[in-house]
Amino acid sequence: MVYEFNSKLLKRVQITKDIATFQFLTPKEFTFKAGQFLLLSINGEQKPYSISSSPHEKEIVEITVKKVGHFSGEIFDLEVGSNVQIKAPFGVMIFNEQKKHSNVFISGGSGIGPFIGFIRYIRYLRLKNKLHLFYSARTPTEIEGVSRVLGEPTENENYYLHVTRPYLEPEKHWKGLTGRITMDEIKEKVSDYIYAHYYIVGPNGMVEGFNKLLSENKVNKNNIHIERWG
Ligand SMILES: Cc1cc2nc3c(=O)[nH]c(=O)nc-3n(C[C@H](O)[C@H](O)[C@H](O)COP(=O)(O)OP(=O)(O)OC[C@H]3O[C@@H](n4cnc5c(N)ncnc54)[C@H](O)[C@@H]3O)c2cc1C
Repeated sequence: MVYEFNSKLLKRVQITKDIATFQFLTPKEFTFKAGQFLLLSINGEQKPYSISSSPHEKEIVEITVKKVGHFSGEIFDLEVGSNVQIKAPFGVMIFNEQKKHSNVFISGGSGIGPFIGFIRYIRYLRLKNKLHLFYSARTPTEIEGVSRVLGEPTENENYYLHVTRPYLEPEKHWKGLTGRITMDEIKEKVSDYIYAHYYIVGPNGMVEGFNKLLSENKVNKNNIHIERWG
């Protein structure tokens, strides 16, 4: 069922300089599945945003937004208490609660949003299968912001955090992984990579690139779940 309701901004949490999570009020009966997105309307204009809260958190819904242009700028300009309209849920990149194989999340930048929700949901469900997050950002500062929001990985969780352009902040002396996420790295880290479930979020090029790579490496199409952001 799709719900349409007036809502207001309850809270904003800054993750990096230009990425923040925005929490909105929902009616009691509102439900969604982990991985779905909502349509946010402000002043008659509407855009889609992946939900980054977990379905078990009631009467609120969160989105994680990168400030890149006109509409995302309007979201950043909202004061706590501002009125917005929400229509939701939509989308088919729904988290599969399978308990056997690894779950692999791949994204960059603001594409971390849905995975913040997945990780909270997995912790709530106490799923014991392995979770591998491959995430890339431009700078160590962005990685630090995301790590803070995700919290320390638990014993079943592995985070592989890549900085793609560490030279922009040489003072940070980044010692972690650099460059783009590769298939070789996925194969090395995910022992059951052929049977794992993959969730890929981001721009078309990145999503299609991984979709093709995974298929070429014998991953079953039914185990590849994608959300294209255009
Ligand atoms: C199903 C779906 C889910 C989405 N979920 C999210 C989400 O959870 N968080 C989110 O921030 N955006 C998300 N988007 C993108 C969002 O709907 C807007 O397109 C985005 O906020 C840009 O709108 P704008 O008017 O601010 O900028 P525009 O003027 O439309 O775009 C400005 C420039 O920024 C680029 N751009 C657009 N989005 C991003 C981005 N996220 N990171 C880097 N560059 C970008 C555009 O290609 C363009 O070059 C989603 C899109 C879809 C289709």
